[in-house]
Amino acid sequence: MITYYAKPLAKLINKLSGFPGVGSKSAQRMAFYILNLPTEEAQALCEAIIDVKQNIKECPICHNFSSNEICEICSAANRERDKLCIVAEVKDIISMEKTNEFHGVYHVLGGVIDPFNKKGPDNLNIKDLVERVSKNTFEEVIIAVNPTVEGDTTALYLSGLLKNFVKKITRIGSGLPVGADMDYVDQATMTKALRGRREM
Ligand SMILES: [Zn+2]
Repeated sequence: MITYYAKPLAKLINKLSGFPGVGSKSAQRMAFYILNLPTEEAQALCEAIIDVKQNIKECPICHNFSSNEICEICSAANRERDKLCIVAEVKDIISMEKTNEFHGVYHVLGGVIDPFNKKGPDNLNIKDLVERVSKNTFEEVIIAVNPTVEGDTTALYLSGLLKNFVKKITRIGSGLPVGADMDYVDQATMTKALRGRREM
């Protein structure tokens, strides 16, 4: 179908259809939208993409994205440094932040243990997590991964590794539907899940 388009348009549709959740119909709509943008708007869009690629770094402490060396959360003076929340992806930090209930610091794993997709503990940011937890005094470690089989496996594995260093390890889950993705859960449900976290 893409061959019906003029070459540059086909190329753009092809690139856009590689985005997560974007099918060929949406890619086509987006491409036509871009085509109709004033040139300076299209230029600004390109620059925003390049800017993200060049200026966003990974925080060496928590693996959050950051435009500074250390991310905003790790460097903020008003965060509770004795509370750590472990999440799978950077976007999960945003879900947690939106609840406005957690004021601690984070650690991003970069995924969950998923043997079917050849993702084991060595492919995740677990080694430095253990080091971080062993060297700091955390009053509570909250494991906030999705309530899926992979999430459960990851949470169990982590609590086994961390229990020697922390008194209280909790898991967010109750209130979240089984198999739910934190990304799609509304703020009220997420707040309820956080409040209802259970000790592991
Ligand atoms: Zn950080």
